[in-house]
Parts: sequence; structure tokens; C-alpha cells
Amino acid sequence: MRLTVLGRSPASPNPGEACAGYLVEAGGSRVLVDIGPGVVAQLVRRHHPDELDAVVISHMHADHMLDLVTLRYVYPWRARPKDQRLRIVTPPGSADQLLELARGVGSARHFEDCFHLTEHDGSSSFAAGAVSLTPVRTQHYIPCWGFRISADGRRLAYTADTAPCGGLEDLADGPDLLLSEATLRSLDEDAQPPEPRGHLLPSEAGTAARDGKAGALVLTHLPVNGHGEWAREAAADEFGGEVAIAEPSATYEV
Ligand SMILES: [Zn+2]
Ligand SMILES: [Zn+2]
Repeated sequence: MRLTVLGRSPASPNPGEACAGYLVEAGGSRVLVDIGPGVVAQLVRRHHPDELDAVVISHMHADHMLDLVTLRYVYPWRARPKDQRLRIVTPPGSADQLLELARGVGSARHFEDCFHLTEHDGSSSFAAGAVSLTPVRTQHYIPCWGFRISADGRRLAYTADTAPCGGLEDLADGPDLLLSEATLRSLDEDAQPPEPRGHLLPSEAGTAARDGKAGALVLTHLPVNGHGEWAREAAADEFGGEVAIAEPSATYEV
């Protein structure tokens, strides 16, 4: 299984970088997980979207889904035959938000004439070609699901956006590679009590990877501009294993 980082930025983009977007390839299948601003420009350097088995969206924050608007423009402006439409898997209950977004950019049919829109159910595994994805609910400011992703006997886990929580522990439990957000430079940047937290420090990603015995840890969703070494060291101090910072356009073997 191969993971290619199309974008790693948090909501405020790092200069010259796309927001969240991760290409997963295994067993002849190809899945794009998250499609934040700037991701489509990176995707089409490599693949036409018809070469994807599905686009899967973790949650409805702009930095994880807004380039779905852009993806529509890769296709001609007419309804596509239903059996040729790219499958888009969004969180449960997101259909109304997509419809509002479609209206906001000029046409209620912006997505539905072109894509096969589906929702996962929040817990059941689903297949995208040879790749199996299992959604795992995380603790974030809005409903969010990370994914356990498996194919070819290999396991990747993606935390999406999360605070320390049971879902994170579940995701970090034994994958060959844990792709974890590490958005915070300090706890001051997270929600303050009594509001529940929504993101991780790099050290907390390291702790989760250590406790779950993940094979390797890749940190992403970082507010960095080529200076992520502090975050890598903070995570490695806890994890004790191999830690990398997700680099734009880099590919990681899982
Ligand atoms: Zn985010
Ligand atoms: Zn978010």
C-alpha cells in the first residue's frame, strides 16, 4: 500500500501548499481521502479523477472538503451518465450541507449531476475497489471520522482531525503506519475548558502511536513552512519509533 501526500496544511494554508488530501493506492485501486483547498491541482498532476475508485471525506470542515467544488470543473459542464459518476463518500448527515454548498456556488446540481454521492454510516466498513475503509468517530469541533484503511494485508490509519480520545486510541491500535494530525503548537491553540478539545500536540500523536504499537508515525496537518523538526522530535520522544513529517508530494510505503 502506498500513501501520497497531496496536501498537509491545516485550515490556514502553509505557503504554497494544499490543505488535507491523501492518495491511497493498493491492489490496483486508488482512493483520495479528504479534498481540501488546493488538492485538486495536486491530484491532476498525477491522475484524472476517473482513475480514482472513490473520494472519501472525513468531516465537513472546509480544509477537508472544499475542493470538491473544484473537482466538479475537471468534468464537462453537463450531466454525466450515472454509471460513470465518481463515487464520493461523505459523513453521515452531510447531504444538506453539500446541497447548500452547491447552491452557494451557483447550481443546486453542482455535485449531483457529476458525482455519485453517498454517505457512510459512521461505523461500518466499506470498500473502494480493493481498499477497505472503516470509519472511526473522533473528538473534534464538529462530527468527524478517521479511517482504518486496509488492503494487501497492510494497515494504514488516518486520524483526520481529533483530540486525544477513545477513537484515536482505536485508530492507533496496531496499524503499520499511523497518519496523525498534529495541529497544535501549544494547548493554548485548542479550545479551552469547559469546551472540549479538537486537535493534538505532536507529543500526543507520539503517545497514541506508542500506546497502540503503531509500526510508524507520519505527522500531518501541521502549521509549518519547512520547519517541522521540532514537531518530529516532540512526537519521537514519546513514540520511540520512526516518525516522519508528511511532506507535500512525498510517498510513503505502508
Ligand atoms: Zn482540519
Ligand atoms: Zn476540522
